[in-house]
Amino acid sequence: METNENLLAKLSLNSSKVFIICIFLILSLIISLCSYFWITYPPSITNYRETFIPAYDKQGKLQIAIRAYTVGSIFKFLVVNPYTFETRIAEASEFASRNPHPPLTNPNGYFTISELEQTPYMKVLKKYTSPPYPIENYGIKSASSLVRGVFLTVDMCPSTKPFEEKFFNTLVNLQRKMKKAVPLAISLSGLWALQHSKEFDWLIEQHKKQRLNITWINHSLSHVYYTDVPFPENFLLTPQTNFSEEILSLERILLSKGQVPSVFFRFPGLVSDENLIIQLRRFGLIPIASDAWLAKEQQAKEGSIILVHGNSNEHKGIEMIMPQLVDPTSIQLLPLHKVFEE
Ligand SMILES: [Zn+2]
Repeated sequence: METNENLLAKLSLNSSKVFIICIFLILSLIISLCSYFWITYPPSITNYRETFIPAYDKQGKLQIAIRAYTVGSIFKFLVVNPYTFETRIAEASEFASRNPHPPLTNPNGYFTISELEQTPYMKVLKKYTSPPYPIENYGIKSASSLVRGVFLTVDMCPSTKPFEEKFFNTLVNLQRKMKKAVPLAISLSGLWALQHSKEFDWLIEQHKKQRLNITWINHSLSHVYYTDVPFPENFLLTPQTNFSEEILSLERILLSKGQVPSVFFRFPGLVSDENLIIQLRRFGLIPIASDAWLAKEQQAKEGSIILVHGNSNEHKGIEMIMPQLVDPTSIQLLPLHKVFEE
């Protein structure tokens, strides 16, 4: 027979186990609820704004923050690699304000303006925001040097029609034949993205699954257009335009979907003026024009920046490029940042 002491000891042990299991269950519930709310209602982006802060990464490579913002309590930057034009999101804590591996010529690791100005990004930003300022098709139109291949840009201006499904599926099929993600630059307008959320999500999915390698070109939030106004007063040249809002809101839409904005901008209608270009430089964005707007009968050649519309507003251009997309040997598509390679 068990003594009273043994019985009490057993009861105490059992109640300890029950207590531990209860704590474990409560903690699991809290973690599950937190995960659910984090996924369903992620903390929103606040105080999103332009900036210009040079810094070094851990390897001592120069980088430039062009946007700053907070998510919850975390301070973040949108950062451009000034040698490759590629962008990424970084936390401020990753930034070093002095070069951790300084060269002998600059042992303190301080920044110099000449180092910044010698980077390809800063040179290109200056070159493609300098005069003259033609009202149409201002910006880079084709590769800076001889390249084998073309740069496909697909404009997604606001539209009430479904997108060019067959065209995008053909690009995805091209990935299966090429065995690598298909490079594609999409000029995204905010209103298209917001009004075609399923199609926008599908494009993001293709990017995540590495079927398409999408560079998101900023094509403004509203892409406003009036059919009864001449170009010098139309698109972003309308007097009511809030250019900062047009740029930053589109980038916030991309970030809210886990996508990284690029340093490239396509003016709606390819229409701009000196004032807009000077402002664009302040935002660190490079205007992307085109020498091969297919629907306007402009022929593509090696190094061309091809322009088609993927929003079903200009099906003629899609018809012209489709035959080449079926056969991977007939077209070599290149990622847009390579357009500046010298
Ligand atoms: Zn457009």
